[in-house]
Amino acid sequence: VSPEKLALEALLRRALAQGEFQVYYQPQVDIATRQIIGAEALVRWQNPDRGIISPAEFIPLAEETGLIIPLGEWVLLSACAQTASWLAAGFSPFKISVNLSARQLSDPQLKARIVLILETTGLEPANLELEMTESAVVENATVAGATLNELKALGIRIAIDDFGTGYATLGYLKQFAFDSLKIDRIFVRGANEDAQNAAITTAVILLGHSLNMTVIAEGVETEAELAFLEDQQCDIIQGYLFSPPQPALIFESLLVTNNRLFGQELATVSTGVVPFVPLSDREKSQNLSSSGWEAV
Ligand code: C2E
Ligand code: CA
Ligand code: CA
Repeated sequence: VSPEKLALEALLRRALAQGEFQVYYQPQVDIATRQIIGAEALVRWQNPDRGIISPAEFIPLAEETGLIIPLGEWVLLSACAQTASWLAAGFSPFKISVNLSARQLSDPQLKARIVLILETTGLEPANLELEMTESAVVENATVAGATLNELKALGIRIAIDDFGTGYATLGYLKQFAFDSLKIDRIFVRGANEDAQNAAITTAVILLGHSLNMTVIAEGVETEAELAFLEDQQCDIIQGYLFSPPQPALIFESLLVTNNRLFGQELATVSTGVVPFVPLSDREKSQNLSSSGWEAV
């Protein structure tokens, strides 16, 4: 092990103990209504000396050292607690998606940990989606298969992440009934003009739909990509075009102003949408409700 790695590992342990991690939220948007119908929870490490460190730099090491178990559990707990309080505050229902690594998937305690987190936070299982890559599932096929079925039986949704970039065969789509399929951004990029990406994206959307999965396109950065995905009847988009991952407070303000994004007003907001009462700022919420943000 390199000295640099050891140093990083020590830093990671300390960071966990000292609460230097934060969860960011990236909206997932219904392509037909432009409504935020979900968010992906993405961990950030705010180091006092090095600033914000991206997960690409520390997740692999956390995975290698097993630190991903406590870290992943912390992310899950924070994201579920935060979402439960948004829902309790009256934001219209959305799902929180949390990433699970290979190591977590092979943890025999995983289901018990998740059940406890749902009980503690009061989040309904139907509001939780767990994202896992095909490689993570395939590496742990036996344990993961059993765990996945148990989680699904609880009503939790399962998404297959980075679809098409791993080394799994299509057989596992049949073996594990995933609820959602996330098309990796390497295929989404320029799908409107790159013939190969267009072909792959179109085929994957069809494949997902024929297997009854919700299809989510990741890394949508341009209006042209969005238009292409809409033509191909993709269900949900996620990407910088709408918003990068944001701290909870900023995500919350996105929820509040959602129907003014994309430069268009929503035609109708479905009835059943409950009034907004942001937790963070009582005054702001009073202003909102006195300016017409009331129950419909
Ligand atoms: P991922 O699960 O594929 O997450 C999506 C990544 O794409 C995020 O990177 C997000 O910031 C980035 N992204 C979103 N929209 C766009 C876009 O329009 N363009 C581009 N170029 N990128 C976009 P991030 O947050 O740096 O996370 C990187 C990876 O780290 C994640 O990839 C995931 O594999 C892992 N990760 C992050 N948080 C967690 C976690 O809590 N647990 C585990 N196990 N892994 C995590
Ligand atoms: Ca993901
Ligand atoms: Ca992904």
